[in-house]
Amino acid sequence: MKPFLLLAVACALGPLSLCAAPLRVLLIDGQNNHDWRSSSPWIRKVLEESGLFGVEVATTPAAGGDMGGFNPDFTRYQAVVSNYNGDPWSPAVRSAFVAYVRGGGGFVSVHAADNAFPDWAEYNEMIGVGGWNGRTERSGPWHYWDGRILRDMTPGPGGHHGKQHEFKVVTREPSHPIMAGLPAEWLHGKDELYDQLRGPGLHMTVLATAYSDKSTGGTGRNEPLLMALAFGKGRVFHTALGHNNGPDLTSQRCAGFIVTLQRGTEWAATGQVTQKVPADFPTADKVSLRK
Ligand code: ZN
Repeated sequence: MKPFLLLAVACALGPLSLCAAPLRVLLIDGQNNHDWRSSSPWIRKVLEESGLFGVEVATTPAAGGDMGGFNPDFTRYQAVVSNYNGDPWSPAVRSAFVAYVRGGGGFVSVHAADNAFPDWAEYNEMIGVGGWNGRTERSGPWHYWDGRILRDMTPGPGGHHGKQHEFKVVTREPSHPIMAGLPAEWLHGKDELYDQLRGPGLHMTVLATAYSDKSTGGTGRNEPLLMALAFGKGRVFHTALGHNNGPDLTSQRCAGFIVTLQRGTEWAATGQVTQKVPADFPTADKVSLRK
């Protein structure tokens, strides 16, 4: 039985405190340079497994298609999760999305969603930093961590990664609701470690970083990978983790990816995190992958 239905049954039989309606989440996909057809069902499943969310999916036309038919009503949801990296949405949908987040809606950007929309100023303010698709110093400074977040205006491209590997994620803001109770360091399943992300970086709290080692083709810097941002009255959780190019989904099966996504989505939707840290959360030296 789906958590959604379990909740409905508990609600019919149990005390009123179990009757809270699930948080409504809209997952957007349809174009990506990654295999969104395998990652979207997984993202939906892990969000719903928390028991907190009811997830609906909005799929855009394929690349080059008529975006006129893509017109979701964002106001029906407490949070929008993007697994999308593709053609621009229509001006009306972009305006509606900006108004939705600015007015207090939650937004979650997963992995290559931060590659999307290099020329949409408000979107780049929401995600704080992004990469690829023509991003340069005009997109904003590089952001990296050296005891605090540093902003580097050196000209150059935005977005890069070395070869995929397991790497340690280091908490930088342990008192933030998304991070409270998580280990100070944990070993993430094999993934791309994004580096040299560029953007305005406004109202951005870096929750966690990872060291991008030159031996794996990285920068030799601590790169921001989990971020919390404010955009108007809205909250944005940005996870740069979660590369996938096939149904294996190793990086997204990491309990660290899953739990931070679940917690970040709840925080984006409500400003709070009520979830306990599960026993299978990875440790500093042991990766933990779910099936
Ligand atoms: Zn990737």
